[in-house]
Amino acid sequence: MHELQIASNLVNAVMDAAKEYKNATKIETVHLSIGKLSFVGEEQLRFCWGAITDEREILKGSELIISDEEVEISCSSCGYVGDLEVSEDPLYHYMMPIFACPKCKGDVEITKGNGVTITNIKLMIDDGEETDG
Ligand SMILES: [Zn+2]
Repeated sequence: MHELQIASNLVNAVMDAAKEYKNATKIETVHLSIGKLSFVGEEQLRFCWGAITDEREILKGSELIISDEEVEISCSSCGYVGDLEVSEDPLYHYMMPIFACPKCKGDVEITKGNGVTITNIKLMIDDGEETDG
C-alpha cells in the first residue's frame, strides 16, 4: 500500500527530528503538506499513521494536520510557471492532469505538488513547555 510506505517514511523522519530535542517526550502534532499530484489518500494515510504511531510511545496519539499543496509546473520552452492544466473525464469522474505547458504545449517540470512534506512538528519537551520546530 502506497500510503503505508509514506506513513512509515514520515514516522522515521519525525522520529529523527525529535532526536534533535533531547528532552522531547511527546510529539503532539505533525503538519503535512500533501501535493495534489502525489495521489496520496488522506484517509488511508491517517489510518496508516495511527497504526504505526500506536506502537511508538513518543508518537502515540499524535495528530496529523494535513493541508493541500497546489501544483506548480515550469516550462523550459516558454518560461511559464504556474498551474497544471487539468481536464475532467466525465465518463470516469476522474481528474486527468495534462503534463504539458498550457501555453506552448511544451514539456514541463513539476516543481511543486507532487510529494508529501512535513512542514511543522509540535512536540512536548520534558519541562512541560511546548516548542515549535
Ligand atoms: Zn511553455
